[in-house]
Amino acid sequence: MRFEYAPAPEARSIVTLRDSYGLFIGGEFTAGSSVFKTISPATEEVLAEVTHAGPEDVDRAVAAARQAYERVWSVMPGRERGKYLFRIARLIQERARELAVLETMDNGKPIRESRDTDVPLSAAHFFYHAGWADKLSYAGFGPSPRPLGVVGQVIPWNFPLLMLAWKVAPALACGNTVVLKPAETTPLTALLFAEICQQADLPPGVVNIVTGDGTTGQAVVAHPGVDKVAFTGSTAVGKEIARACAVSGKRLTLELGGKAANVVFDDAPADQAVEGIVNGIFFNAGHVCCAGSRLLVQESVAEEVLGALKRRMAALRLGDPMDKNTDIGAINSRAQLEKIAELASSGEAEGAERWSAPCPLPDRGFWFPPTVFTGVSQAHRIAREEIFGPVLSVLTFRTPAEAVEKANNTPYGLSAGVWTEKGSLILWMASRLRAGVVWANTFNRFDPASPFGGYKESGFGREGGRHGLEAYLDVPGGGDV
Ligand code: NDP
Repeated sequence: MRFEYAPAPEARSIVTLRDSYGLFIGGEFTAGSSVFKTISPATEEVLAEVTHAGPEDVDRAVAAARQAYERVWSVMPGRERGKYLFRIARLIQERARELAVLETMDNGKPIRESRDTDVPLSAAHFFYHAGWADKLSYAGFGPSPRPLGVVGQVIPWNFPLLMLAWKVAPALACGNTVVLKPAETTPLTALLFAEICQQADLPPGVVNIVTGDGTTGQAVVAHPGVDKVAFTGSTAVGKEIARACAVSGKRLTLELGGKAANVVFDDAPADQAVEGIVNGIFFNAGHVCCAGSRLLVQESVAEEVLGALKRRMAALRLGDPMDKNTDIGAINSRAQLEKIAELASSGEAEGAERWSAPCPLPDRGFWFPPTVFTGVSQAHRIAREEIFGPVLSVLTFRTPAEAVEKANNTPYGLSAGVWTEKGSLILWMASRLRAGVVWANTFNRFDPASPFGGYKESGFGREGGRHGLEAYLDVPGGGDV
């Protein structure tokens, strides 16, 4: 039986969009060299005009950050810094609905996700790091660990506010100041965050936000006044940044791509495993670096699991991201849609079998249906390359050893999932999987107290937890290049 849902759209009226946004430098919005437009990926309507920061604007931002670092932030006692972070966390909570609606408008992700995941987790990161600000002496890095200075941070479009929180909260807690560049297609929540910094009376220059494209990111990364670079994004750009930072004395941490294996054994509770597979690859339309994009299912239960998975996928609701019933929102940009479509075509051309959920796609905007490929071999591009969309590649295995071998057969190493009722098998697998995070009987769980990061081409350094502080303190192991 299929239930129809009445539309339940979230109101947009809580958001007041400005026609045009400046750069946030030295605590104020200022003009820059040129402007570009940001659009809603669900409707292609223009949302606002945003300023493109050129090298001279980045110069101003770094100078503001340096001044704030030397005169105010690095000399402020930790307990005072903590108060600002608590204040920011509370303001994120107070303005949660506004942030969630704006995130969904600019990114295209379902309101349910921005409301229940992105925004609460962003507040949680500020609360968590506010607690660390006056306890750094007890974090295991010596009696009085020093901050690094001015941090240049570049983030992607898939979790715009959350990635900002992952970067800004630990940097500020440790006494650094920040120049952050959001992704070109999703600048709006970062600019609303700038307003929150003003509202919190954060001293001018502690947080600076420079919007723009990849060239703005390059200018931030290459700036000689930046002491540390923190980047989240694709492996290709991460490698470029590693080269740009080499022998510069800058600290560097990289959070890059992934091609995670979600491993389902024959004794796993099937219904829960199917929910976990769906969550693993269709949460945020698969625009997740740690997405469970390779399903490894034990051969003896493969047919049963795939049947249940397809039935579940057929019930997913794709469409208006502002509707509270929507499961799958829009693809963030035309370029990303083209990349997903190209990789999916390569799957068919290489001989894998494609099945897409029978959901109608809206006429306007960028959409891709939830899709699963069976008959995938390890050599196929869809088994090796990060698709970063709602596309699952299914492989089978017979023994735990084969599962480990296949799961680790990737240049990436960000995350993995294991589904079984045997605790001993979970531990056996976890100790052999080369992934920064291994989830057992769950997937895509995040907590600010838990470090996150990768192996191999998924990058280096950790974000979150005590380990994440190391990346923002002048201590050995904090990402020398
Ligand atoms: P990109 O690497 O293209 O971009 C990431 C950010 O870097 C954007 O702000 C981008 O600007 C900027 N940028 C682009 N080129 C340069 C450059 N040469 N120097 C400095 N900055 C640059 O990735 P996407 O935005 O397309 O994000 C998708 C990728 O990010 C996926 O591969 C995904 O796996 C990875 N990712 C990894 C995560 C992790 O935690 N490991 C989390 C989220 C995503 P602009 O937007 O203007 O191009």
